[in-house]
Amino acid sequence: MNPLFDQLTCEARPDRFDSRPIHAEVLNLPKRDNPRVATLKEVISCTSDYDPDALPVAKANEVIRSFVHPVSGVEKLRVRAALGRVLAKDVVSPINVPSHDNSAMDGYAVRNDDLGASEPVTLTEIGTAYAGREFMGEVRRGECVRVMTGAVMPKNTDTVIIQEAVNVEGKRVTIPARQERGQNRRLAGEDLQKGKAALTAGRMLRPADIGLIASLGIGEVSVRRKLKVAFFSTGDELVSVGKKLRAGNVYDSNRYTLWGMLTRLGCESTDLGVVRDDPKELEAAFRKAAAVADAVVTSGGVSVGEADLTRQMMAKLGEVVFWKIAMRPGRPMAFGRIRARGRSAYLFGLPGNPVAVMVTFYHFVRGALLTMMGRTDPDLPLLRAKSETAMRKKPGRTEYQRGILELKNGEWGVRLTGAQGSGILRSMSEANCFVVLGHDQGAINAGDYVEVMVMDGLV
Ligand code: AMP
Ligand code: MG
Repeated sequence: MNPLFDQLTCEARPDRFDSRPIHAEVLNLPKRDNPRVATLKEVISCTSDYDPDALPVAKANEVIRSFVHPVSGVEKLRVRAALGRVLAKDVVSPINVPSHDNSAMDGYAVRNDDLGASEPVTLTEIGTAYAGREFMGEVRRGECVRVMTGAVMPKNTDTVIIQEAVNVEGKRVTIPARQERGQNRRLAGEDLQKGKAALTAGRMLRPADIGLIASLGIGEVSVRRKLKVAFFSTGDELVSVGKKLRAGNVYDSNRYTLWGMLTRLGCESTDLGVVRDDPKELEAAFRKAAAVADAVVTSGGVSVGEADLTRQMMAKLGEVVFWKIAMRPGRPMAFGRIRARGRSAYLFGLPGNPVAVMVTFYHFVRGALLTMMGRTDPDLPLLRAKSETAMRKKPGRTEYQRGILELKNGEWGVRLTGAQGSGILRSMSEANCFVVLGHDQGAINAGDYVEVMVMDGLV
């Protein structure tokens, strides 16, 4: 057990975290100005079975999620500019959509009471209603109106018979028996009801959402401000692209994957470059990052051999814990809050190995950043797929293997992308899914079902 946590008692009540207001600008305020913000120690003291030397993935996420807060800044944007942004306020519908009962098909609008239960009935067509051009008259008994899709239902009619089902001779329209009342009619407000929330705060606006907002005649929406994330790589062996590679050097790829993942998430990112494994340089970089960003994501410097250096320096800058997470890849990780120049930022110190960076980002940082962005749905679904091969796995840790999901004989099958070492970035590049092998899961036989997380989405 880490001595830091030995004497912790459960001094903070869990309900305190649940009721934290999101209006308080938690970030970038010294803690004393915001007494309701829990400290990391408090959060941890309320997390049962907390063991920083073998922390299950779910526990780490529990701590992270109850510690981070959404940013409070809000901006108004034109609807198209809001694509991919997080809605800050509910969009309340000012109208019913559709605004009138209307026809769902091309056909004939009738009074259902006129129709026969067992015999066909012949009605007289008295006019036509088009989408956008209403039939102004009244429909009396024995009459019907030709209607086009989207046309407002003529007065007194309640049912539409599709044109393919009727027999027409001049103005005489014969309708078969047994038509259902209300069929092929769209009701006013069946899509969106006036006064109700059409979209609720906390969702990321997708193409369907911006269309839906437009269908209400609304041109602007309130979204959360963009999240600012600073990132850098640490390591004496790292060389930036464009420089010469000497013996023992590696090109810094993490700043590219991190940039890509942050950009895809919709963050405004700041690249602070490569920082040497030197306490002074590291401290300067952390201070700079904390002063400009809401969150700082770093790679390297948290493995057993290097953590002491980072740990000592972190003690000066804020409240940071060093975890050994029960997972593979990506065991070491640092998390907390650091301060500089009166501002603070959440810190995610990720391992240096290129695959571990991506895995820890997707499974810890992503959810935390989305929460900070105001999203209320940060989790991704797990699907089931049939494993094409056996997979080695020890219970007691969560594994994120890189897989290829393919439809085989009408069923989704998954296989691994070859060598799974945490330095083999190709395994991520070739994969289209993570095979998520849960904490208690043991070895997998070919033909067993496993859980997968698909990497690409439609939206
Ligand atoms: P570390 O976590 O700093 O001990 O790094 C673990 C491994 O990842 C070492 O082999 C590093 O060379 C490699 N590594 C660390 N940072 C990067 C980076 N930015 N790009 C590529 N490889 C890295
Ligand atoms: Mg290193």
